Amino acid sequence: MSAAGRPVCLTIGGSDSCSGAGVQADLRVFEAIGVHGCSAITALTAQNPAAITRVEPVSLAQLDAEIHAIFDYFDVAVVKTGMLVDAEHVALVSALLDQLHDGLLVVDPVMVSSSGRSLLDQGGVDALQQALLPLATLVTPNLNEAAVLLGESITDAESAATQLSERLGRAVLLKGGHSEGDVLIDLLCDSDGDTRRFSHERQPWSELQRHGTGCRLASAIAAHLAAGDLLSEAVARSVTFLQNQ
Ligand code: PLP
Repeated sequence: MSAAGRPVCLTIGGSDSCSGAGVQADLRVFEAIGVHGCSAITALTAQNPAAITRVEPVSLAQLDAEIHAIFDYFDVAVVKTGMLVDAEHVALVSALLDQLHDGLLVVDPVMVSSSGRSLLDQGGVDALQQALLPLATLVTPNLNEAAVLLGESITDAESAATQLSERLGRAVLLKGGHSEGDVLIDLLCDSDGDTRRFSHERQPWSELQRHGTGCRLASAIAAHLAAGDLLSEAVARSVTFLQNQ
């Protein structure tokens, strides 16, 4: 069922104890955009914007039960994934989504936090490429994550976005947040090979405000897709949403 007439989005990712990133941030974004948010937590983290001091993955049985509980009751329009920990968690999420979800899927291929902590190990990266990315409607790497997925460093963002989208056969939003300069460019390359640029000024944000911006952009896109936007509209509105937060 939908939730009182609102479309339903499910976020699958890590809990962030300071709530700027992870599922707490995703749920706030879903609420702000007007969709009903559900969550399945892959790991508990102890963190603030400067450091992640402890990570406790949830058991596979718990994660399996969380995802089943949502799909048993709700018609999920869009799933967004974030921190997935390791190969076992990625494999479980991929298998369950393949089996239970026939809506859209936004995969934020979260690998390392800005504070330098690994959020997905190497086995997890391999499992992501093999099992989860083939199911995605949209993949939203930052420049570092795109380099890992491509297996080479990035010299030209536009050709990297095109190459990654072609290789995956999925739409890719290459997020420019980690690049230099005052104007940041996010590049959307859809599965037909068309590219759109979304440029915005770098905001004079504090560490606290910057924390979780990648998560929130991906969850805003998921929410706008659930509300019925086409992909490029959803991205445009989400870029604006983030700028106005
Ligand atoms: N913690 C969790 C649970 C996350 O999902 C993420 C990013 O996806 C982070 C921390 C890192 O956020 P940032 O790199 O913006 O600090």
